[in-house]
Amino acid sequence: MNVAQASHLNAFLPVDPAGTPPPPGGSVEIAPGVRWLRMSLPVELNHINLWALDDGAGWTIIDSGIDHPDARSAWERLLRDDLGGRPVTRVIATHLHPDHAGLAGWLVERFDCRLWMARSEYLMAKAYAASTGEEPAFRDLFFRAGWQPHEIDALATRRRTVAGFYSPLPGSYRRLRDGDSLQIGGRRWSIIAGGGHSPEHLCLHCPELGLFISGDKVLPTISSNISVDPTEPDGDPLSEWFVTLARIRAAVPADVLVLPSHGGCFTGLHRRIDTLVAEQRLALIRLRAELAVPKRADEVFGTLFSRPIPRNNMPLMGLATGESLAMLNHLIATGDVVRSEGADGAWRYHSEGTASP
Ligand SMILES: [Zn+2]
Ligand SMILES: [Zn+2]
Repeated sequence: MNVAQASHLNAFLPVDPAGTPPPPGGSVEIAPGVRWLRMSLPVELNHINLWALDDGAGWTIIDSGIDHPDARSAWERLLRDDLGGRPVTRVIATHLHPDHAGLAGWLVERFDCRLWMARSEYLMAKAYAASTGEEPAFRDLFFRAGWQPHEIDALATRRRTVAGFYSPLPGSYRRLRDGDSLQIGGRRWSIIAGGGHSPEHLCLHCPELGLFISGDKVLPTISSNISVDPTEPDGDPLSEWFVTLARIRAAVPADVLVLPSHGGCFTGLHRRIDTLVAEQRLALIRLRAELAVPKRADEVFGTLFSRPIPRNNMPLMGLATGESLAMLNHLIATGDVVRSEGADGAWRYHSEGTASP
């Protein structure tokens, strides 16, 4: 889920060489042995793309959708009809978010197979699935960002709803890490892992097929949500995101077909990465200028996002606040902004007196 940022909405027109997306609950073959599945999501970002790779013995499934009755029945039909009743041999989750890992536990239990994930993603998925929204660190982060207690209560309710989007995760898993290489259906897929959107998000590249499964790391029409997590209130995930995108750009050729988790498949990976980075850099410049006057994290949305952020839309407010904090923490890390505590306990950010012009 992402908050549309101010400058990018018309900046990039994605090519969709793979044709029309499959309907929700449907699938289409986009390369030999590679099927593009789509599931609906009962949230504003209303769909997710999943991938089924023929691995000979059955299917390697990449991402799973959230645990919701509609998604389970869509899976039942897909497994029976589109995937020919052949077994799932492993489930790879690109990262911890419930639209990606929500039904992973259900699938691996049903097929008695292994969940493959990055370590920090697996552990954090377990924490998300167990979250009550009452964790002091969670409440403190939003209090510091200027939220009122009743607003934090509403977001805590939302967090419990999101925790319910996970089927029980398995007690063990198979670890994947950056640089790993997998044989799937006789073809090599290499893993590129990196932080930013989540701690250790996995992307998969198959040079032979010219495919790049980008997950939420590179999306065609919206920017990835880069948010500060309550467990790391002083973290700088935006730096990790810049580093990971540079590594992807260096490792993956420009002419791959990109298979993103949301939106249509597209070409122009390097151009898209360049656009995303340039937009973030511009947003940082605008934000620093705005902070000539001290402001809270919830007072800079107008500078960062093109759409209004209604104060009573808690999912959107949560995303916008997390993204604002990530931008602000990055400016602190680069020495462009200082943070102080106001009399009300909320953090204020101020660019006056810092080193940069
Ligand atoms: Zn995600
Ligand atoms: Zn996603």
